[in-house]
Amino acid sequence: MSQRKAKPRPAAAKVAKKKSRAADARRDASGRVHLVVHRDPVSGGEHLSLRAPLFREAWQNEIATGAANTVHGVLQGEASVDGAVELARNAMAATSRLIDGLLARAPQGSIACKAGCDHCCHQVVGVTAPEALAIFDHLKNTRTEEQLAAFARHVIARDEAGRGLSSAERFSPDHPCVFLEAGKCTIYEVRPLACRGMNSLDADDCARRLRDPEARARFLASGSGGRSFLEPIRAFHAVSAGLQLSLAEIYGLDMLPLELTRVMRLLFEGPPSLADDWARGKKPFAPARSRDISEDPAAREVSGTLIGPPPKRPEPTPEH
Ligand code: SF4
Repeated sequence: MSQRKAKPRPAAAKVAKKKSRAADARRDASGRVHLVVHRDPVSGGEHLSLRAPLFREAWQNEIATGAANTVHGVLQGEASVDGAVELARNAMAATSRLIDGLLARAPQGSIACKAGCDHCCHQVVGVTAPEALAIFDHLKNTRTEEQLAAFARHVIARDEAGRGLSSAERFSPDHPCVFLEAGKCTIYEVRPLACRGMNSLDADDCARRLRDPEARARFLASGSGGRSFLEPIRAFHAVSAGLQLSLAEIYGLDMLPLELTRVMRLLFEGPPSLADDWARGKKPFAPARSRDISEDPAAREVSGTLIGPPPKRPEPTPEH
């Protein structure tokens, strides 16, 4: 059966053309939008800087620049699966160190998170490809063949349970994270950057918005981060941005955000070459793509990022 592609509506086509022209205007000769490569003429060494701030706060831009340079320092011009796993583990450790420092400065008793509290583990979790590869590597190194096969079946069942549901619908006690077991994270050592960033100031509020459908609907409609400690969220976004930009702009890798359960399923079910394909610049994880915060004004606000479409100008007030 032949399929005809729908013709874009003239107005939409015009907007798309305008957008791609605007992006093209910001690219350098190597196609980079956000990063600039500086080469030392004597040593030949390279370092990266941001063409323009990515975040509102200077400390976030410094962290993002540091993370981008770490990527370049570790990979030394050549992307590989092992390199990506090492980078993800570096990013995880660095994020935890940063967040520990921030938490140490928080007023005593203000952080409500404690062991066994799992309210924030019932929602869609976003990861980058290196994080997914580090988690998969950890599973392979810590579980037996039988355990891996059982876990793969669990991943497939959870993925099927969430199929076709929106992120809002998956924010529910019915959709625990695939790694949550008896209230505990089974991959705590390699948990995603986003999980490290979540630090609540009010555990009762977390419980209410997960378990009470009305409180949940109000929370989702507000688009806010709830009663969370914002700095750790902003710290993980800064590390993640540096990792993503360096791998995407310098190494040409697909770094769009992925959904954790789906990408795990791809790694279990896909051909063994999947990870290498990604490291060669292909896009085998595209079916696991998830929402990009740059498209969501509320998420941009919480993360402190400046990237995204400019805010809409208010309609001019008619003169009387
Ligand atoms: S990976 Fe671990 S910390 Fe993150 S949502 Fe899942 S169970 Fe919770």
